[in-house]
Amino acid sequence: MKTLAFFDTKPYDRESFDLRNAGRYDIRYFETRLTAAALPLADGADAACAFVNAEIDRTVVEGLVARGIKVLAMRCAGYNNVDFKAAWDAGLTVVRVPAYSPYAVAEHAAALLLALVRHIHRAAARTRDYNFSLAGLTGFDLHGKTAGIVGTGKIGRIFAGICQGFGMRVLAYDAFPNPATGLEYVSLDRLLAESDVVSLHCPLLPDTHHMIDAAALAKAKHGFVLINTSRGGLVDSEALLTALRQGTVGAAGLDVYEEESEWFYEDRSDVTRQNKTLSLLVSLPNVIVTSHQAFLTREALANIADTTLANLDAYFSGSPLENEICYRCTGSPTPSPAACTRRTSGRCRLGK
Ligand code: NAD
Repeated sequence: MKTLAFFDTKPYDRESFDLRNAGRYDIRYFETRLTAAALPLADGADAACAFVNAEIDRTVVEGLVARGIKVLAMRCAGYNNVDFKAAWDAGLTVVRVPAYSPYAVAEHAAALLLALVRHIHRAAARTRDYNFSLAGLTGFDLHGKTAGIVGTGKIGRIFAGICQGFGMRVLAYDAFPNPATGLEYVSLDRLLAESDVVSLHCPLLPDTHHMIDAAALAKAKHGFVLINTSRGGLVDSEALLTALRQGTVGAAGLDVYEEESEWFYEDRSDVTRQNKTLSLLVSLPNVIVTSHQAFLTREALANIADTTLANLDAYFSGSPLENEICYRCTGSPTPSPAACTRRTSGRCRLGK
């Protein structure tokens, strides 16, 4: 039986993987994230499994391969935390779960949006204290407003549909516009200038890092609502904080934060040395921060476990790897997806 070193384990991961594994793999669960310091835990394993806030740099990649581990199963969709060039150089195959429930993430984005525009978080806190005053809770109708969707892949398209369901006009921006979506594509500048709500659904890449910075915020419609369920690094948090204080941004719903790896997924309530910008953001009444939980539905957890185990089954049986990614197909550091053999021959690392 193959052994899987499973990092960053939460109780819900263990429950869903144990249910679906049904004895196929000897899964060794570790609470720690996969970092260089955690590598000794992988001794004796045949595969490693990690999540969004692992630090898969060259040291980790080479440390896994030195232990005889040739496959890393990321149980997430995003992969900005993996050094794919190092993985390629060292001979480490990387698989992921490209889609486990785009509905989970899109619906969480909608939940953040509705809570913010109707002040649900503030109202709930008040009524818990038996304060039934409505002062300061005036919201606005989404119907008739404009939603700007940045990134029209699986999640962005579903969120666009939700916005259309509210009767919103939808504008879209994507580096690779897809006419089949039927969406109205515009430049990012025009989207920012015309949108009452901007929701980010593109990956974090070198060219999308801080795409929402002070310059972008200066071009945006005054008082717009920013929703980010994608990756924290898309937004310059300092610039966002300034814009929120000035009213340029009316409200922000953030499921991700650029320095989240030190804080998210853990109870840090007893830590006195806090992240200053994050502390200021969570203290604002027009900001809701959730701890990268947009994925967290029963359906998504089941799909994550099924796809991760199927990826490993395919790897160990020598079958095509539908969900493999490498530095050529991810475009990191230089994109040349056409050079990748996966789409034609089933695996990125063909012959390697
Ligand atoms: P996807 O690959 O289906 O879609 C991404 C879209 O972004 C594509 O249409 C692509 O063309 C576009 N894009 C690429 N580069 C761009 C650029 N420079 N500017 C604008 N658009 C660009 O991905 P998805 O499944 O819709 O996921 C979107 C993102 O959501 C992921 O990258 C991930 O970071 C994030 N995510 C977050 C959670 C969570 O729990 N918060 C869960 C899953 C995914």
